[in-house]
Amino acid sequence: MIYADNAATTPLDRDAFEVMCPFLLEYYGNASQPYSFSVAGKKALKQARKTIAHRIGALPEEIYFTSGGTESDNWAIKGIMAGSHGSMITSQIEHHAVLHACNAMERLGVRVEYLPADRNCVVQPEALKERITQNTRLVSVMMANNEVGSVQPIAELSRIAHENGALFHTDAVQAVGHMETDVNCLEIDMLSASAHKFNGPKGIGFLYIRKGTAIQPYADGGAQEAGLRAGTENVASIVAMAVALEKNCEHMQENQIRLRKLEQIMEDRLRAENIDFIRNGNRGIPGNISLSIRGAEGEMLLHRLDLKKIYVSTGSACDSKNTEISHVIKAMKVPDEYAEGTIRVSFGAGNTEEDAADIARALAEIMNGMK
Ligand code: PLP
Repeated sequence: MIYADNAATTPLDRDAFEVMCPFLLEYYGNASQPYSFSVAGKKALKQARKTIAHRIGALPEEIYFTSGGTESDNWAIKGIMAGSHGSMITSQIEHHAVLHACNAMERLGVRVEYLPADRNCVVQPEALKERITQNTRLVSVMMANNEVGSVQPIAELSRIAHENGALFHTDAVQAVGHMETDVNCLEIDMLSASAHKFNGPKGIGFLYIRKGTAIQPYADGGAQEAGLRAGTENVASIVAMAVALEKNCEHMQENQIRLRKLEQIMEDRLRAENIDFIRNGNRGIPGNISLSIRGAEGEMLLHRLDLKKIYVSTGSACDSKNTEISHVIKAMKVPDEYAEGTIRVSFGAGNTEEDAADIARALAEIMNGMK
């Protein structure tokens, strides 16, 4: 089989898996307990927080462990906006974790503006400048889009937010572990990340919250995560997340070069087969290729590839039940005759040059079979 849906999720790194086992089987003590049996867990948590903080240029006390990207996004938005008299700005190309959290805020009476994106799925800083006001409390724009991989001009967007007295949050779920991410260089106040997108376990992630940011707790209960996110710590997954992040960051450059090569092989092959397609996005996240193929239907392509044991996606994993054209493809204004034939191939650590060529060959077979 060929698994090429790494933007939906990645396989767990073996070292990350191995580091989990002792915390599940031997050092299973509750890390919040004061006795010596819990020391190993406590120490591991402290080290993991330090490792993760270092990789994004943060302080350890600015890292808050969560259950993943969805929770981090919900916390950042609701923790700032619930009960606020201000308004917020996000973009039309966000993941549903952000969009639906914003919808929930609208139901509470918060005014939310949705910035458009250009043909390459990039939110223009000018658009933010036009809409931001002194009443804007929060701006939330993702670092890299999950459907087409486009990287956003985060430094410029955060500068505009700060010049107008607003906080800046970014959903960096697709970026962390795949591209350099420094919260200080980019002047980010809050950043969401999820371990299963960088070869860590599912159900664990973090929210970076800049020191001094006035945010409401996500969950009330025990004193974990400085009293802001109560609940017994998932030590095994947290430790594995830190190992996976460390490994991905150490090999980031070589991974990027390898993934770019796979993209090129696939694109060249498709062109050589005379497939009429548009490649979406600004070629941001390495290995993420969104193709809109003229005259095709994304769902049909996905199922035909599935029969060949090739696993790709029509867009966001969370949209797989939704056969409509995705909100991202709509926001980019992909021409109608191409839009319906959109698929996302996202290469990762396990993919080879042969995989890239095989996927292109399989797509050509399917398309030629339709003529
Ligand atoms: N944000 C983006 C950009 C994503 O791609 C995803 C997952 O697909 C999420 C948020 C949600 O993350 P999680 O699956 O960890 O809840």
